[in-house]
Amino acid sequence: MTIFSKIVKGEIPSYKVAEDDQFYAFLDINPVAKGHTLVIPKQEIDYIFDQNDKQLAAHTLFAKRVAAAIRKAIPCKRVGVAVMGLEVPHAHIHLIPLNEESDMDFRKEHLKLTPEEMQEICQKIAAQFE
Ligand code: AMP
Repeated sequence: MTIFSKIVKGEIPSYKVAEDDQFYAFLDINPVAKGHTLVIPKQEIDYIFDQNDKQLAAHTLFAKRVAAAIRKAIPCKRVGVAVMGLEVPHAHIHLIPLNEESDMDFRKEHLKLTPEEMQEICQKIAAQFE
């Protein structure tokens, strides 16, 4: 079972931003920007393009709703979208509030946020999710 499946099952804690019956969105634990969020299918699928067309479309549309909530909750110019999957073999879309290009540089030093800060960001985004 992937670490993300354990998060979906509640076996590992996460800062949940949104969910429905198929998808789950939560804050990245090692964010490159405040509000860095991951959107995953609850079903354990390795890579985003391993999903069939219907699943992929639904995943993208759910991520779109999460991005809209991030946009309202976190001041930013754009919400950047990235897929890597080099670390966790469970399909996930990174959504990252951007003000400049370097905000999406995964090689730079990541933010060190307190649990209280993470909780506050999480609640702000969750409150905007429609
Ligand atoms: P990648 O698979 O290369 O797209 O990277 C996986 C991402 O998942 C990284 O940005 C990690 O910080 C993030 N991550 C790994 N474990 C957790 C976790 N338990 N909770 C939240 N984010 C995580």
